[in-house]
Amino acid sequence: MMSDQHTTLGILGGGQLGRMFATAARTMGYDVVVLDPDPNAPAAHFATRHLCAPYDDAMALDILARTCAAVTTEFENAPSSSLDALARHCPVRPAASAVAIAQDRILEKSFFRDNGIPVGPFVVARTPEAFHRAIADIKYPAIIKAARFGYDGKGQVRVQSADEALQALADQPSLLPVVIETLIPLRLEISVLLARGANGQIMFWPVAENRHQNGILEITIAPARIRVELAARACKIASDIADRLDYVGILAVEFFVTGFDTLLVNEMAPRPHNSGHYTLDACVTSQFEQQVRTLCGLPLGNPELLRPAAMVNLLGDLWANGTPPWEVIFQEPNAKLHLYGKQAPRPGRKMGHFTVLGNSASEALKKAMRLRTALGMTD
Ligand code: ATP
Ligand code: MG
Repeated sequence: MMSDQHTTLGILGGGQLGRMFATAARTMGYDVVVLDPDPNAPAAHFATRHLCAPYDDAMALDILARTCAAVTTEFENAPSSSLDALARHCPVRPAASAVAIAQDRILEKSFFRDNGIPVGPFVVARTPEAFHRAIADIKYPAIIKAARFGYDGKGQVRVQSADEALQALADQPSLLPVVIETLIPLRLEISVLLARGANGQIMFWPVAENRHQNGILEITIAPARIRVELAARACKIASDIADRLDYVGILAVEFFVTGFDTLLVNEMAPRPHNSGHYTLDACVTSQFEQQVRTLCGLPLGNPELLRPAAMVNLLGDLWANGTPPWEVIFQEPNAKLHLYGKQAPRPGRKMGHFTVLGNSASEALKKAMRLRTALGMTD
């Protein structure tokens, strides 16, 4: 579906991912309608129209159904009932069935295990009784993760023992239902970002290397500094997941790498991913342009990396003393600043990112670390 003067694309969710999708779509000639209940949704300024309403609002869904040629989502918590309702009128990519699995850690982990996808040890508990049984069955230290609505490490508690796990549930009974995972000794975290078209064709961006702090992505380095064989293994696992789901759109798969180069899948995201933001500045086709292409059934663009890159997230903490000294970034000619237009810089909130290009991944990382320090960010 090529763009003409009247082709409109819809997106559920108007955060930074929706904003970057809208920018790509409008650049390519489409109109964009964003559904998001937040009047200050970052995507609103870049959209042709902002429907400020809940994600299950019947009137808003009706407008999307009547005006959009196709609809996508920027976050996994979009109600699958809304996606299903829209799918009766126009293509919805990815499908509600795939989003439903990714939005529930219990369904997601079970889907991986049932399909031979490698995952670390975990147990599931939906009730307090099941929780008591589960905490006796898992090795410690462990992480308790709420099955739904977690992101950036929210809804997660790390515990050293069964006693601490009991205490965590007593403190926060609303955590249930949960997945409890043994803490994996990580050598590295990597992510595979792929696009899968409606015809089943898959294209990969280079595997990215990720560093987290307090459960939040801090830095992404591309390409990951790993052996070609390990990267190929990760890509194969990610494409198996996409094929099993008959997935159409952008899919990110997060991996843990252990000391023996064993790969364990952590989770997947049925959308563009924070670890793929470097593609905006470092690749022929960004993850957001590719999202538009998969949504519209256009041929996939070339995901090739033009220059190695490092991407650094800018969290609200950085605003503690007012606007950060952006001149630091503008003075580096190979750096690109991206701000998401969010009004309230709360600690831990993703406010923007910057990407630095280099001759190698290590050189890009070195420049990125220098800029972080100059901005006043500590390790
Ligand atoms: P995000 O939205 O940023 O992806 P999330 O809230 O979905 O985060 P996870 O991806 O489950 O959370 O976990 C965030 C980070 O916490 C992981 O990238 C990893 O660094 C650490 N972590 C989570 N689970 C484990 C585990 N079982 N073993 C070791 N580290 C873990
Ligand atoms: Mg994660």
